[in-house]
Amino acid sequence: MWFNYHCHSNYCDGSEPLESYVLSAINKEFKAIGFSSHAPLWFENAWNMPIAKLDDYFAEIEALKKKYASQIEIYKSLEIDFLEGKDVWLQSFQSDQLDYNILSVHFLKSNSGELIEIDGPTDTFLTQLATNWNNDQDLFIRSYFRAFEVMAVPSTQTIIGHFDKIKMHRNADGTQVIDTDSAVYKEASEVALQAIAQSGAFLEINTRGMYKKQLEHPYPSPELLKRAFELNIPLVLNSDAHHPNELDACFETTATFLTGLGINKLKVLTKNKWVDALVTINGLEPIDEH
Ligand SMILES: [Zn+2]
Ligand SMILES: [Zn+2]
Repeated sequence: MWFNYHCHSNYCDGSEPLESYVLSAINKEFKAIGFSSHAPLWFENAWNMPIAKLDDYFAEIEALKKKYASQIEIYKSLEIDFLEGKDVWLQSFQSDQLDYNILSVHFLKSNSGELIEIDGPTDTFLTQLATNWNNDQDLFIRSYFRAFEVMAVPSTQTIIGHFDKIKMHRNADGTQVIDTDSAVYKEASEVALQAIAQSGAFLEINTRGMYKKQLEHPYPSPELLKRAFELNIPLVLNSDAHHPNELDACFETTATFLTGLGINKLKVLTKNKWVDALVTINGLEPIDEH
């Protein structure tokens, strides 16, 4: 029995209508699924949902909740971009309308105020790093993790998305662009994790890099995950699906890897409540508190 709270549909950059995901989830015997389209930005871009579609998105999820109530739990959310200085715009989406929200860093602001996409094509990323951060990786890494520190305000309905996504970039020879072993990386990510621990927010274990970029591990990496678990940060398993087939992509491998790390408990949202669930290779088993 699996759960997945991070799904994109054709309301943003996912590939199918919402109902296809519901049917796929039922077919895969999921207990719950949550939709998290990319929330609208103050400008239009290729992967965010245009603001004109927002009402339809909410209405369609409500209708699906009712239609499939006897078969699966469906939750309503948005993946909201975090960006310093745009907090008011972005907070406007963290409303009671949502069952929970996902906060992610896809953009950073350069010194000149330009928005830099951190998880686009690696060529573009390298050019941006050279142009805007003078190829100073330490400076970039500090400003990346600082965003997580700032976004970690007290919340019990926020999931922090793909924490170390910047590790995805690879040089032509296959080596990692970002040095995740550097002292600065370790220090900056630790400070960010501590801020998340203080905030009460959930941290996502996101498998998308494994099935899209052939990464060995999910976001976050083993060292960071172990540290998050030590800090008692509640963890949630998501695939960041952009297609109904991706709903449980790499979940079994990740479950095995998590138990190997000693992480045997995650959080799941079921019956409108976040509860502990045991990690097994065949799925997550909510622990009945009664
Ligand atoms: Zn994202
Ligand atoms: Zn996403």
